Amino acid sequence: MAKHPRILVIEDEVRITNFIRRGLSMEGYTVDVAHDGVTGLDMAQANQPDLLVIDWMLPGMDGLEVCRRVRAETNTPIIILTARDSVSDKVQGLDAGADDYMVKPFDLDELSARVRAQLRRLSPSQQDVLTFSDLKLDTGTRQAFRNGRSIELTAKEYDLLELFMHHPRQVLTRDVIFDRVWNYDFGGESNIIEVYVRYLRQKTEENGESRLLHTVRGVGYVLRED
Ligand code: CA
Repeated sequence: MAKHPRILVIEDEVRITNFIRRGLSMEGYTVDVAHDGVTGLDMAQANQPDLLVIDWMLPGMDGLEVCRRVRAETNTPIIILTARDSVSDKVQGLDAGADDYMVKPFDLDELSARVRAQLRRLSPSQQDVLTFSDLKLDTGTRQAFRNGRSIELTAKEYDLLELFMHHPRQVLTRDVIFDRVWNYDFGGESNIIEVYVRYLRQKTEENGESRLLHTVRGVGYVLRED
């Protein structure tokens, strides 16, 4: 697999393709987008993506049919997106050859995790412990360590810290953080990011350690050493 895996997203809703493209591009993936099934199938054959994200409800050829046709030719991992969530729908999706299944609306964080899991299947040597300075994050057990000291994190604290650990020394804007850690439908007015950054600082600086999570006034936050 290439250093920057190529992902093809087939989904007619532009708001959602933009959301997915922004998020997965930040993770270092090359993202192509098709807005209908027939174009998507053509691009899947022409571009040989490493993974496909296919929405079920598409104009023209529906997502399951695209999934079946791709599966007839390759073993490329496929994640199906849908607003449906009944068991029989899920079974239909998996029967069509999908490897995983996500119900809308979803967190970008959850989609990234599933994309990583599917790609890891293809390259099992991928690193599971993220390290920055004296901070470590085990993405398998979702545990953090500073200086060897274990730090208990809630689910959202973990998600937020993982985002920063994937992008050290990179200023992350509030919009990006909302997109990635909270849902795209989340109202952007609240101070929830500030609150969670404060929690993370308290936990990672509990023994008087230096600050790693810094505020960039008017922009967002950055993980860096002083
Ligand atoms: Ca759709």
